Amino acid sequence: MKERFGVEVDRVSGPRRTIDLRSDTVTKPTRAMYERMVSAPLGDDGLDGDPTVRELENLAARIVGKQSGLFVPSCSMANLIAVLACSPRNSQVLLESGSHMCSAERGGATLAGCFYLPIEGVKGEMDLDRLETALQGNSSRIPTAMIGMETSHNNAGGVALPLHHMRQVRDLGRQYGAHVHLDGARMFNAAVALGLEPRELAACCDSVSLCLSKGLSAPFGALLMGEMAMIEKARSFRRFLGGQLRQAGVMAAAGIEALVTMPGRLVQDHDRARHLADLLAKGAPMLECHWPQTNILMVDVSRSGWTAEQWTKSLAEAGLLVRPWRENRVRCVVHRHIDDKIIVEAADIFRKASQKLAC
Ligand SMILES: *Cc1c(COP(=O)(O)O)cnc(C)c1O
Repeated sequence: MKERFGVEVDRVSGPRRTIDLRSDTVTKPTRAMYERMVSAPLGDDGLDGDPTVRELENLAARIVGKQSGLFVPSCSMANLIAVLACSPRNSQVLLESGSHMCSAERGGATLAGCFYLPIEGVKGEMDLDRLETALQGNSSRIPTAMIGMETSHNNAGGVALPLHHMRQVRDLGRQYGAHVHLDGARMFNAAVALGLEPRELAACCDSVSLCLSKGLSAPFGALLMGEMAMIEKARSFRRFLGGQLRQAGVMAAAGIEALVTMPGRLVQDHDRARHLADLLAKGAPMLECHWPQTNILMVDVSRSGWTAEQWTKSLAEAGLLVRPWRENRVRCVVHRHIDDKIIVEAADIFRKASQKLAC
């Protein structure tokens, strides 16, 4: 395959290639993305607008069935802007305790002046009794402005929240007057796993964020979608955070290509994650894997005698990159650069490492 623009597209090379299962964020842009980037009409997004950014925002809003969209540099920023736009100071934001917003992004509370309250849950689903108790606010006297859900749920091993759970959370939000936000960084993975349209998931919330630079393979960017009035407010918070970009159409162009072409292939990543789980169950039975619903496979190493750190190091020496997840899990994420053959190779590296342990 001829290379264009001095970049390597669709291929990982080298004498002994490293298999990178650390995250789907490592995916490189496709050739079609680069081509769209080169020919995209551009403007100044902070002055009179960038036509390609506008096209991406409208496309994303249409896909999730919301009035408006806002292009932002990252999904963390999309979630933070949602909090800023919908939660007044001294209000409470309720989040599932293992969610990305509650762990990796909770520093946002210091900017928003809100209190992030974790709600315990199972498989990414908040316990609804605890959620309702928090909404009643009898003990804290702090009003809840926002409830946040996450799907697919990263920490829970990429599970897609069941639609009936999402509807129950939406109904509780309506009953108590709280805005319901969905951290949908990987919402396309969730929609594919459930056999639903993204808009059916988005219908369970007032606003939704999504990440272009994970399984969808764009090099950059995320989106926040919601009602027009909310997104106008969000737009001013984006400027306030320094997230207003100029000829951002260069990056939005890759995002458009991602939204149009990438969701349809995610099912392959899910199938391959299940294939990897299968091969590990056969080849390295000391490891315990859950059955992956999407592209994230959590491997429990508790029974092996090695910690997750030790596994990560040993696998890396053999050319397989994964990430330790707390003490006893390693996380493997399947993405566009991982084909069937690489899955077999990865399983083999796990098998050899476990044999080394056994003797
Ligand atoms: C990756 C991720 C984010 C943050 O996305 P960035 O674009 O890296 O800021 C937020 N939420 C979830 C669930 C994620 O997996």
